[in-house]
This record gives sequence, structure tokens and C-alpha cells, in this order.
Amino acid sequence: MTEPGIMSSDAKQIQTAAVLDGDEWVINGEKFYISGAGDPRCKIMITMVRTSPHADTYKQQSQILVPIDAPGVEIVGPMEVFGSDDAPHGHMHIRFTDVRVPKDNILLGEGRGFEISQLRLGPGRIHHCMRSVGVAEKAIEMMVDRGLSREGFGKKLINLGKNMEVISRCRIEVEAMRLMVLRAAKAMDVLGNAEARVWVSAVKAMVPEKCCQIIDEAIQMHGAAGISQWFPLADMYHSQRTLRLADGPDEVHHQVVGRAEAKNRESDRNNAVQHMTRGSMFTGPA
Ligand SMILES: Cc1cc2nc3c(=O)[nH]c(=O)nc-3n(C[C@H](O)[C@H](O)[C@H](O)COP(=O)(O)OP(=O)(O)OC[C@H]3O[C@@H](n4cnc5c(N)ncnc54)[C@H](O)[C@@H]3O)c2cc1C
Repeated sequence: MTEPGIMSSDAKQIQTAAVLDGDEWVINGEKFYISGAGDPRCKIMITMVRTSPHADTYKQQSQILVPIDAPGVEIVGPMEVFGSDDAPHGHMHIRFTDVRVPKDNILLGEGRGFEISQLRLGPGRIHHCMRSVGVAEKAIEMMVDRGLSREGFGKKLINLGKNMEVISRCRIEVEAMRLMVLRAAKAMDVLGNAEARVWVSAVKAMVPEKCCQIIDEAIQMHGAAGISQWFPLADMYHSQRTLRLADGPDEVHHQVVGRAEAKNRESDRNNAVQHMTRGSMFTGPA
């Protein structure tokens, strides 16, 4: 989806164009940070393209299959993430110049790109958050090990300053994150991906940010070694910081949650019904 020339958080703006010419789509445009496109096993790309510029806003985009070796596809090179090219996986910068693919390569139908995104991105996002909870667990484990194994100023590191409280706060945050992810997973099971999107946005906005804070505390307790090659904390931090952007930046997900809250409250007020027990924008399983 993502393109260098626009604010891609607003996917309605996607510029890469696909124009029908006989039995083929002709594609022109540019994408970047396309994960996995650097992997030699990557043979085909699902590409978000504008097929219907005059249709209703949410019907302008489509998703289309483009073989990576199609003439006109230029893999410009890898985008770096905190100085790493993430090879061989890679997050590639790609240009499309008069790339031709058969008419039938369009997925689901013309103008249904957003519909597909809504269904596909939810599972990916919750999957990221599940892994983030594991990363945060690892950070706490390392923090406690470090605190118990080092001594200074006549005490174990864990007993210095507010370190015990720091660890307590991290543990509490991890348990809160785990419950939120479970609730989002249950919403997906019970309501389906489309209906659960507010839950998914809630965890995507919450978990990577909290996880960054927890890793940051773990780094601090390790001193300089915390950002060294001796511990995985720097890599862990990079991966979680990246997640605050990838698959939609935090702000976009907060917008989804905030809007749902406002919409629910508005409909409550219009109906003059006070849902005293609900008090939440979330629909679905409690
Ligand atoms: C490692 C990595 C892998 C990625 N893999 C992929 C991939 O495989 N496929 C793909 O298509 N994309 C991928 N992306 C791109 C990612 O999805 C986008 O970077 C992201 O959606 C944000 O788009 P943008 O970079 O254009 O930022 P912009 O849209 O320009 O946003 C910039 C900033 O503006 C602010 N902002 C945006 N919207 C709002 C709002 N509504 N309210 C308040 N503030 C706002 C946020 O702070 C945001 O960070 C990847 C990115 C990274 C870093």
C-alpha cells in the first residue's frame, strides 16, 4: 500500500494507478517499505492501486496481483530500519512503469480494495501485538535477572532506587496488555474481523507503545550493556518502535477508537438512552 509521495496513513490518497487497456491492467506508480519483497521467495505482490478515480471515495482503490518479475517492475532497493536493511526479508522501494497484468488479476472485484484491507489487516495487527506481549515478557525477565545479579552501593540493583516499582509497573502493564489482546481476539472470533476492528485498533495503539516503554526500562537497568551487542534489547526496541508506524501509526488507531466512542455516545444521546452499565465504545464480548 504505502507510497513515498503521500501520507499513506490516509490510504484513500493512494496514487499508483491501474488503467484497463483491453484485457490488461496497466500499472504506474511507486511504493516503499514493502515488507518481504526483498526475499528471493517472493514471487507475487498484492498491490493497492487506484482503478476508479471517479467512484465514491472508498470504492476508488482495488487490489491486484503483480508478479514481481513482470516487465516494468523495478526493485529500487531496500529501505532501512534503524540503519538495517533487514535482508533477506527486506522492506523494498518499488517502481511500477507501464506494468501489464491480466484483467483477472484483480482481487474480489474493482473498487473493493478497502474491503479486503479491512478483513486482512486485522489478523496481522493482532498477531503483531501477541508477539509484542512476548517481547515485553522477555524484557521483564532480563530486567529482573540483571537486578538480582548485580550489586552496587551495598545493595542488589533490584533494590536500588525505585527499581522494584519499575518492575512492578512493567508486570502490571504486561498483564493489562495480555488481557486486551485476548479481548480483541475474542471479538474477532465472536464478531468477525470487520466488527472487531475497534478492538484491534485499541490493542495496536496500546501494545507497541507500552512495550517500547518496558524495553526502555530494561535497557536502563542494564546500563551501557543494554544497548550493546551483548543483549538483544536494542533489537527488541527497534522492532517495537517500528511497529508504532507499520500497519498504521498509533494516531490512526486512536482515531478509530476515539471515533467509535464518540459515535456510540452520540447514538445514546439521540436515543435518550443511558447505558450506564456499558460506558464503553466497544461492542461485543465483555
Ligand atoms: C518496517 C516497516 C515495514 C512496513 N511494511 C509495510 C508493508 O509491507 N506494506 C505497506 O504497504 N506498508 C508498510 N509499511 C509502511 C507503514 O504501513 C506506513 O509507514 C504507515 O502506514 C504510515 O504511513 P506513512 O509512513 O506514509 O506516514 P504518514 O501517513 O505520512 O504519517 C506520518 C505521521 O503523521 C501522523 N499521523 C498520521 N495520521 C494521523 C492522524 N489521523 N491523526 C494524527 N496524526 C496522524 C503520525 O504521527 C504518523 O506517524 C512499513 C513500515 C515500516 C517502518
